Amino acid sequence: MDGPEPSGDENEALLDFLYLCPHGMAEFGADGMLRMINPACARMLTPILPVVGQLDNFLDALAPFAPDLRMQLFTSTMKRGLVLDGVRIHVGLPPRIRSKRGETVPNPLVLSLTVLRLSPDRYMAVVADVSAQVMQERRLQEAEAWFAAMAEGAEGYAFFYLGADGRIADWNASAERLFGLGADEALGRRADGLLTALGSGSAPLPERLAFVRRDGWHLAEGWIPRGAGERFWGSSVVSVMRATEDGIGPAPEPEAYLVVVRDMTERREAAEELRRALCQDHLTGLLNRRRFFELGAEACTTALRTGRSLSVVMVDADRFKALNDCFGHAAGDLVLCALGSALREGAREGVDHVARLGGEEFAVLLPNLNIAAAVVVAERLRTAVASLSVPVLGPGGTPSEVLLTASFGVAELSPEATDLDGLLRVADEALYAAKAAGRNCVHARHTGNLTEQRLTV
Ligand code: GH3
Ligand code: MG
Ligand code: MG
Repeated sequence: MDGPEPSGDENEALLDFLYLCPHGMAEFGADGMLRMINPACARMLTPILPVVGQLDNFLDALAPFAPDLRMQLFTSTMKRGLVLDGVRIHVGLPPRIRSKRGETVPNPLVLSLTVLRLSPDRYMAVVADVSAQVMQERRLQEAEAWFAAMAEGAEGYAFFYLGADGRIADWNASAERLFGLGADEALGRRADGLLTALGSGSAPLPERLAFVRRDGWHLAEGWIPRGAGERFWGSSVVSVMRATEDGIGPAPEPEAYLVVVRDMTERREAAEELRRALCQDHLTGLLNRRRFFELGAEACTTALRTGRSLSVVMVDADRFKALNDCFGHAAGDLVLCALGSALREGAREGVDHVARLGGEEFAVLLPNLNIAAAVVVAERLRTAVASLSVPVLGPGGTPSEVLLTASFGVAELSPEATDLDGLLRVADEALYAAKAAGRNCVHARHTGNLTEQRLTV
């Protein structure tokens, strides 16, 4: 060194230090000849010995892997100081044989070289094995490439970023496909239009982003606009991306938001279809028995809570067996459909519940109607059914017109019929009375005073 020469003791202490130091250290002259190399450095350079033969010249040893190393070192004209700072030298080694199974795995050795010029003829090198770090970086790059490929290619999904201000900061092919929106239109635009048109229950974007900052993510589902007047049912997850200087610990402010949107239209349609199948009578399209009992129970609860009236009309086609026998079962089905339509048309849309309970039996639930009003409705329905004329193909394929009638039993929720079962039982009794009275008529049972009325025919 240029300073005072170290004493013998100091020299020994320095050698001890170099010997024990876990970092590779070497000293060489301007010609590259090694003057000192510590064990850690020798160990790191061992794998290259089969290539270079011997290790007496540091620069020659590395030359096969870094041909311009000498030039890099000597272009710097400064007298002393850092001449190389963490230069990576890729030492391509043959693949390592993995034991037992005999398969090979990549075995790269990457050294990081830092060289300090102590004087024009004295250089100190610090060598580190950064292979693991390089492999890690490579894996990360690969993962990023995979993610990018997935993000671009995934059908029915869109991945994009929002900046901290909620504006679209990144837009790719997946998003373009899903939203029908080009990057030129999307980039820089506020994402409100894309993510807050998510139907009922979805919070506006600033509110969603506040949830995201608080919880780390937020999920919403609903209709999302897609290009020209179209829309799709989507689920969107927004998650926060924070970066800290050292990459450790939470940062207070988000750097960006990652948005993943999934087109769920088909799944929703399938669910709708299933729901319809579960609630609908397959023949008439009316509510089925199961759904009628669900809605009926709800209507009873509401009526009892609010003190409002609730009535029901039970309907049974008259002498339907004879009709089937005469015209055939297929014709009977057509007649049942016509009967169902007549009941639906005579009921209040969105208020009354019209169901086929089974066979040729139907029921109409009439919220907010007392028995007197319900009897008026039942009478109107009876007239509508009695005036039906259903074209069918009769025996031998002969076109015929089928006429039919039905009998009606009406009941109202009352202290004697406080639930759906009670209400239906009373209505059924009234219906039985209507049948007994000769059919094609409306009977009502006022359970309060147990008087029975025959109202028509
Ligand atoms: P009533 O006036 O006393 O009600 O006489 P009815 O013949 O209508 O009564 P019953 O209960 O004896 O017969 C009901 C008939 O309804 C028997 C069956 O053939 C017919 N039916 C039940 N379900 C269906 C159906 O889904 N399609 C057709 N076409 N007929 C059905
Ligand atoms: Mg019947
Ligand atoms: Mg019948």
